[in-house]
Amino acid sequence: MSCILIIGGAGYIGSHVNLLLGERQYSTVVLDNLSKGHNWAVLQGDFICGDMADRSLLSKIFKDYSIDMVMHFSAHSIVGESMSNPLAYYRNNVANTLTMLEIMIEHGVKKIVFSSTAAVYGEPGYIPIDEAHPTNPTNPYGKTKLAIENMLEDCDRAHGLKYVSLRYFNAAGADEKGRIGERYDPETHLIPKILNVAKSVSFQSAALSPLMGEGWGEGEYPPVEIYGTDYDTPDGTCIRDYIHVSDLAEAHIMAVEHLRGSGDSRIYNLGSGNGYSVRDVINKVEEVTGVNLPVRECPRRSGDPARLVASSELIGKEWQWKPGHGLDGIIRTAWNWVMKPRA
Ligand code: UDP
Repeated sequence: MSCILIIGGAGYIGSHVNLLLGERQYSTVVLDNLSKGHNWAVLQGDFICGDMADRSLLSKIFKDYSIDMVMHFSAHSIVGESMSNPLAYYRNNVANTLTMLEIMIEHGVKKIVFSSTAAVYGEPGYIPIDEAHPTNPTNPYGKTKLAIENMLEDCDRAHGLKYVSLRYFNAAGADEKGRIGERYDPETHLIPKILNVAKSVSFQSAALSPLMGEGWGEGEYPPVEIYGTDYDTPDGTCIRDYIHVSDLAEAHIMAVEHLRGSGDSRIYNLGSGNGYSVRDVINKVEEVTGVNLPVRECPRRSGDPARLVASSELIGKEWQWKPGHGLDGIIRTAWNWVMKPRA
């Protein structure tokens, strides 16, 4: 049976896609170096711990398994870090993908689903952002993802490589059944950071709080930080388009079916089409969790556009994809995951 190689399949989005592929009877093998992913997140399929930069390991996987398609989730993805250490981003994201593409072509594997990002657009010229919006990334992270999209386009022309590049907006939420979810250390993303504060507060005891550290006394909690309150938005805080990870996973299944059906190369946005400010998210977390959150207003974080909202009309029209979860479902599932006792 043909098998899908999932690079970065132990990470947040890759592990949800791997799980859904297994539920739909697809055969998968996950390759992940566990730099950010977790062993426990690979709930089905074979798992190989290793690096996509390792040519001989990749060749061996292509020989050992009957791989007909690669799904590529592995990347450094923190905007601020990419500004301070750009070469690590070019090395890990661009150079390692280049190696992997060479080996794919060498082994005659010519289908790939690629995790791209809204960061390829840069500062939006209009909202909602559709796929025709100019790409002008403002940070190395976005530039590396755009460089890979360009490589894919060139490989299609030269070698007939067919790709689906999915430009995610803000992925959030967790598996409905609570089996897997987002876990980074340190956490930088808004929703899990707020939920960690909510968890601390809900424990109602400094002694039990997982976030207690130096400088936080009994009954005090590290607050939710709002990065910038002077943006040109209705409440002054940044607006983003949050999309549930399981809705992203469904789009990946459609991409697999499209490519297995000899479909042509595509690029699609994946977002909900709804924008929520940082304050909207905080209010929604308070509503879902019943916790009153301590908040601190902080300066802007560099490189943050005021608003990013997707138009996902194209994938809706062409593949009938539409998100099944709103902000409520995102926060409910993520809260369920955050409160789940850790093994
Ligand atoms: N943000 C915030 N406080 C935090 C983390 C994030 O106000 O502790 C804001 C951030 O400035 C951005 C939005 O929340 O406007 C989403 O940030 P995140 O890091 O989750 O995703 P990004 O948009 O950078 O991909």
